[in-house]
Amino acid sequence: MMKELYKEIDDSKEFIIDLQANMTSRPAISPANGGEGELDKANYLEKVINNFGFDEVTKLNSQDERAKGGVRPNLIARYFGEDREKTFWLLTHLDIVPPGDLSLWKTKPYKLQIDADGDTMYGRGVEDNQQAITAALLAAKTLINSGKRPPINLGIMMIADEEVGEGYGLPYVLKNMPHLFGKEDSFLVQDSGDVKGCEIEIAEKSSLWYKITTTGKQAHSAYPTTGINAMVAGANLVVRLYNELPKKFNKQDALYDIPMSTFTPSKKENNVSNVNIVPGVDVFYLDCRLLPCYTEKELENEIKKIAKTVENDFKVQINVERILKISSVPTSRTSNLVKRYCAATREINNAEPKLIGCGGGTFAAGIRNLGLPAIVASRLYGVPHSPNEKSSIKFTMCDAKVILHTLMHFDEEDED
Ligand SMILES: [Zn+2]
Repeated sequence: MMKELYKEIDDSKEFIIDLQANMTSRPAISPANGGEGELDKANYLEKVINNFGFDEVTKLNSQDERAKGGVRPNLIARYFGEDREKTFWLLTHLDIVPPGDLSLWKTKPYKLQIDADGDTMYGRGVEDNQQAITAALLAAKTLINSGKRPPINLGIMMIADEEVGEGYGLPYVLKNMPHLFGKEDSFLVQDSGDVKGCEIEIAEKSSLWYKITTTGKQAHSAYPTTGINAMVAGANLVVRLYNELPKKFNKQDALYDIPMSTFTPSKKENNVSNVNIVPGVDVFYLDCRLLPCYTEKELENEIKKIAKTVENDFKVQINVERILKISSVPTSRTSNLVKRYCAATREINNAEPKLIGCGGGTFAAGIRNLGLPAIVASRLYGVPHSPNEKSSIKFTMCDAKVILHTLMHFDEEDED
């Protein structure tokens, strides 16, 4: 039976090109990035899937007056399985990032171009995240056309606002449609991956961002001793944090491609307007990616301890404020989702699966924190957000087959 489905997928080149061309010509850029949102793309996709024969199609608009139509649309479709209590969700996103410097593009970013090899497609969004939308819809269409019912439901979410993340997308859906999600649901996010299609991300580091404000005393630079230079103190703090934190939080975990926690001083706020002023206030930001074996409290205590040494040495006040926290519980290696996806990877991509962790900031964290298993994996070039973004028709077919293999074998016991 699977062979017939795979044959159908192999014959779907035109479907893939048509869908990609239509999505690429409807750029769904967030208002925060200067665009008009996802409405045109969502309306197009809604029309496409209305002919598929899904059992359930829901459109959930969150209100955003900056966007076209005043809404940020989320599109959700389900095809029921034998067991309607469980859903295998494909979590994709509608929005794209702007093309950036046009002179770096060899093609027009909003016009799909196919390479002479007949396989590589170019355009903004073709990989991130239209390959996933295409693979998901191809898998669903093929399955529904066959008339077969999967063991559990197949669900597809096409979500707004992933790239900027202002709350109009996944958080909005989770909050407003909690009845859609069951305790035994599983999630696949095809939003990152590798060309062999063997890497399966099951965990991510905690992302913790801090705003650090150092207050000294402003003065005229001709008389610097009458003030306290906040920038000098802040710069010392940057160096101390940068040197000391990796020594304190030094555990390693080979699951992650950078196997240790990282601590990166990044953004710096403007200070004084003129060269002849001793800055009285200094503000910089620290981006920490912490392995799950450490707690946020441990990190915060250490940052404050180091800040204290600078306060004492420079007679300044330092305020440490956490501005972002995304932590996530890893998905179990022995979950059905991971086991079934590994089997599909071996079968379809002919590759030995490799479980990995990443530096954080994916869609999957929000799901994992609900206690549900989520993995991030796809067979792709790995060129999101770059000029000449590309996607492979062949890889898209592989992703669609992996989806169907995982779904159709979902409730099976292990052979090994
Ligand atoms: Zn993406």
